[in-house]
Amino acid sequence: MKILVVGSGGREHALCWKLAQSPKVSTILCAPGNGGTAQVGTNIPVKDDDIPALIALAKEQAVDLVVAGPELPLVLGLSNALVKEGIPCFGPSAYPANLEGSKAFSKTVMHEAGVPTADFRVFDEFDEARAYVQEKGAPIVIKADGLAAGKGVVVAATVEEAIATLEEMMVKQRFGAAGERVVVEEALAGEEASFLAFCDGKNYALLPSSQDHKAVGEGDTGPNTGGMGAYSPAPILPEEDYEKTAELVIKPILEHMAAKGESFKGVLYAGLMYTKNGPSVLEYNVRFGDPECQPLLMRLDTDLVDIMMACINGTLDQIDVKVRPESACGVVMAAKGYPGHYPKGMPITGLDAADALDGVKVFQAGTKAAQDGVVTSGGRVLCVTALGTDLADAISRAYGGVEKVHFDDSYYRRDIGDKGLKRA
Ligand code: ATP
Repeated sequence: MKILVVGSGGREHALCWKLAQSPKVSTILCAPGNGGTAQVGTNIPVKDDDIPALIALAKEQAVDLVVAGPELPLVLGLSNALVKEGIPCFGPSAYPANLEGSKAFSKTVMHEAGVPTADFRVFDEFDEARAYVQEKGAPIVIKADGLAAGKGVVVAATVEEAIATLEEMMVKQRFGAAGERVVVEEALAGEEASFLAFCDGKNYALLPSSQDHKAVGEGDTGPNTGGMGAYSPAPILPEEDYEKTAELVIKPILEHMAAKGESFKGVLYAGLMYTKNGPSVLEYNVRFGDPECQPLLMRLDTDLVDIMMACINGTLDQIDVKVRPESACGVVMAAKGYPGHYPKGMPITGLDAADALDGVKVFQAGTKAAQDGVVTSGGRVLCVTALGTDLADAISRAYGGVEKVHFDDSYYRRDIGDKGLKRA
């Protein structure tokens, strides 16, 4: 099979790496890809939001399967357009992808489907949103409706901060059209976990729990990032609770979408907050998380092509999705300054030495192939991921890999997985 993976992050390197292990796969293409995907397959310089160019590429190359890494192409209708051309696509069509593309849509679906989630209201008028915030008080959460690359959510500690955020989003339009509409939501307190499921529209197969580290600084301090590291399983969501959690947060969404005639096929990602009343859904994503994907795919012990084709064909109930019993941990190495301004073009060394360690794999993200090797080209540069007999072992192996990799002014959190160790 010839497979086209869309995207350019660490998640996409992990997807290419895992797909390449399938005996069914002969060729991997990645658009636009990074320095890591170039080692597994061929990068093609087409952007992930250029739907006509992606369709043209898939047709020209006669690919057998397209795998969408990020949400944007899905929200823009990549899956719908490929289905029209008769090309299988792993990732939901545009309507269910709106679970991620519009927070107002997502919250409304959760409400209608009976999924536990924080109380909320949707606003299109600044004055009405301000009056509601004044009535509710702080802390309160303000969310831009559309995609804002992880920057569209503010947990406001005071009413003043909440109103200033509303003004930024709705009046000054800091996020453009994405912030014209906002969701104002009750602030919840607790620990977060990610819970992902492969879905074929009707059946689902659960992946083990995982936990991201969104804040840039140790102890969850500083601004939020795309994610500074992840591990799996997350003891806050133990295996014995998977099925009942799926009944609460995965199954109702599949049923809701099916009732609308819009089956959800792909990965459904529930971002959970464990409050004192149990899990509450903060958000849905319609694809793998980055960096949760890296440790999760290291644990996956079933051919990913078989799983993806079963999701597309509605035959997931015939697949036994197996997961290795080991734990996995991924530590993101970033360029100094990220998530603000950061330098690019620094040579990276030690990638092979890290990969040579037992159980360690480096998934590249903001990298590109240069004449004398690989150089940095983004904020999150790579994710050193390791399997270990337990979480402590996986963490220690991942940091062992980090020690081998060098580029100028690299930055990484030293506490990835600590929350899991404390809870275990
Ligand atoms: P974007 O659309 O900008 O990419 P996102 O999808 O990352 O944003 P969310 O996952 O909904 O946005 O929220 C980001 C983070 O904000 C969450 O991981 C959580 O830490 C915090 N958060 C979101 N909603 C709440 C809430 N109701 N109470 C407390 N914290 C929240």
